[in-house]
Amino acid sequence: MNRPCPCHSGAPFAECCEPRLSGLRPAETAQALMRSRYTAFCEGAIEYLVTTHHSTSRGTTEHTDIARSIAATDWLNLVILDTQKGGLNDTKGTVTFAAAFRPKPPRTGDLGQMHERSHFIRDAGAWVYTNGEQLGPYRPGRNDPCWCGSDRKAKRCHG
Ligand SMILES: [Zn+2]
Ligand SMILES: [Zn+2]
Repeated sequence: MNRPCPCHSGAPFAECCEPRLSGLRPAETAQALMRSRYTAFCEGAIEYLVTTHHSTSRGTTEHTDIARSIAATDWLNLVILDTQKGGLNDTKGTVTFAAAFRPKPPRTGDLGQMHERSHFIRDAGAWVYTNGEQLGPYRPGRNDPCWCGSDRKAKRCHG
């Protein structure tokens, strides 16, 4: 099955985040790791989320926390807004993104937005997430695509 990747890269899952989640092809860049971690939340890949989180910034209840978050949330869209370093020859990188989510049924609730600047480092050759800063609401330009993933212009949607 060649379904589109949940990270909204436009590439098929099998050629985008799946080989990262399965360990076949580790993320070469910070952005690729960020995308694959978003996809891991969509796919319920808890172990991947734990192992790609830098060990010193992991909480003792991380496994449970991630499982709870996955069980409670449907992730709807990912927009990468900015990438600083994090390339093939870098050891640090920053990726800023906006992600859209909703509470998973049977819970109900409004569409939410996560706007975060995530920090990554290369640890023993592999990119890992260290921490992120939550930012204020991201508003695209009025004629830009809405952050919710509706394919409508922001001004006709959540702009
Ligand atoms: Zn992907
Ligand atoms: Zn919208």
